[in-house]
Amino acid sequence: MDVDVVVVGAGPTGLMLVGELGQAGMRTLLLERRPEPSEMAKAGGLAGQILQLLHYRGELDRFREASIGPEPVPRFPFGGLHLDFTQLEDSPMRAMLVPQPRLEGLLAERAIERGVEVRRGHEVVGLRQDDDAVTVGVCGPDGAYEVTAHFLVGCDGGHSRVRDLAGIPFPGTSFPEIERLASVTVPDSVTVLDDGGLDVRGVGKIPFGYTATERGVFACSGMGGTMGVYTAEVEATEYDDDVPMTVAELSGSVSRVLGIDLPLGEPLRMARFGYSARQADTYRGGRVFLAGDAAHLFPAGGVAVNAGMLDAANLAWKLAGSVQGWAPPGLLDTYSDERRTAAERTLLHTRAQVALRQGYGPGGDALRALFLELTADEQPLRRLGALMAGTDVGSAVSAAQPLVGTCATDRALHVDHEDPRFAGLLRNGRPVLLDLADHAGLRDLGSDWGGRVEVASATIDERPADALLILPDARIAWAATVDEPRQTALPALREALTTWFGAPST
Ligand SMILES: Cc1cc2nc3c(=O)[nH]c(=O)nc-3n(C[C@H](O)[C@H](O)[C@H](O)COP(=O)(O)OP(=O)(O)OC[C@H]3O[C@@H](n4cnc5c(N)ncnc54)[C@H](O)[C@@H]3O)c2cc1C
Repeated sequence: MDVDVVVVGAGPTGLMLVGELGQAGMRTLLLERRPEPSEMAKAGGLAGQILQLLHYRGELDRFREASIGPEPVPRFPFGGLHLDFTQLEDSPMRAMLVPQPRLEGLLAERAIERGVEVRRGHEVVGLRQDDDAVTVGVCGPDGAYEVTAHFLVGCDGGHSRVRDLAGIPFPGTSFPEIERLASVTVPDSVTVLDDGGLDVRGVGKIPFGYTATERGVFACSGMGGTMGVYTAEVEATEYDDDVPMTVAELSGSVSRVLGIDLPLGEPLRMARFGYSARQADTYRGGRVFLAGDAAHLFPAGGVAVNAGMLDAANLAWKLAGSVQGWAPPGLLDTYSDERRTAAERTLLHTRAQVALRQGYGPGGDALRALFLELTADEQPLRRLGALMAGTDVGSAVSAAQPLVGTCATDRALHVDHEDPRFAGLLRNGRPVLLDLADHAGLRDLGSDWGGRVEVASATIDERPADALLILPDARIAWAATVDEPRQTALPALREALTTWFGAPST
């Protein structure tokens, strides 16, 4: 076997995955067809549960230092509206502005620190697999070659070659809507108002945020010396993704949608794209897996990077367990099941955003106004925030075990430890059995899975449970309820440890 895992594609998903695999000690090879990192302005940053997970890995400061905007981000787009999560003290939806090229650079840095080999200019062109290995056909700068590995993961984007080679269908819908997004300098004839709106000489004031018209949606936001401009309109034109959008093209779209000539300065960032709602029928074909855009496409912005990087966190430790030989049967299949369920939740709210965004005329205006009224209340906003962040997946597995399936929240712990918060426990990306009630029997049982599961003990104010079994992606796999008798807690823990981590090592 040349390596343990080959990952295809150095976007945010592939880079997160190789970082996690490197941390788990896997011999990991990342193959990327582009000779140089992409400078394309795509995602504006990180949002949702991935921020919490990077915090748990002790990595968040690396990204925070590169952030170009305020934190928390004041307003988050949702279906042609802006939602304000800053009103929630402990908002489930958070965001950090780190433009995608910078984000990918930092993730690559993290992966290389963990011993991952990154080959750029190497395109995957074929694969075959049998019971023992997968063999990947690669076309590199010095010609064609093959690599064998235990597993291959296609993180190679929406047009995934790996998905096609594995024969995995990708059903769904592509919308005939064209989105245009730009950041330009502010020309002399435009004044940026305090609330982010624009005052245009000879035209008048244009409010901050979205304006829906009979022809589509326009949005603007002014900040400092730049203005952000967005349009969405239904168009039959087929655009070549390799031909970049020009200022003239954007200007034409603004005048069609808004009916005005908006003066635009020098372009700083320009992007044209379309939306699709698609999901692979399965994320696994034998030794081949899909993650990120290769597995799912969502018809709204701001959520795809989160979903892809969370796919990576869910998959990495399961692949490591399989390579190391302790993974129980069926563990690898939980990846496809769990992350397809998560993507269904993301498709739910992003498809709803299409309806909100495309509701033109008085009915559409009323729908958006009503939606804004509802989300002014704390509970609906909180619920929507958890949905957008990807934290509501798997919650409420049972009323008796309300914590199981939820993501562990960061809390202060009373512990003789250098990092007295929960966050410090998941730094190594390994599962943790956390004893919160000085329960030696549970700790002893956990130590039978030594080398796979870390055992820690602490006390905590307002104890949510006597003990928690936490997976590397921060989901709670098992909990002992407060004052649960050992007669039920011990067998339940044994079952959970066996389900997730196989037979005990001792
Ligand atoms: C204009 C725009 C704005 C966006 N804004 C946001 C946003 O604000 N928030 C958000 O979350 N998302 C946003 N997105 C979506 C986000 O950019 C993608 O979801 C994200 O890049 C997907 O990451 P990925 O790693 O799964 O795939 P990709 O980033 O597509 O990476 C796939 C990689 O695989 C490589 N590759 C492909 N085929 C092969 C092959 N055969 N061999 C080797 N390498 C191969 C490609 O070169 C590429 O580098 C935006 C997208 C666009 C276009």
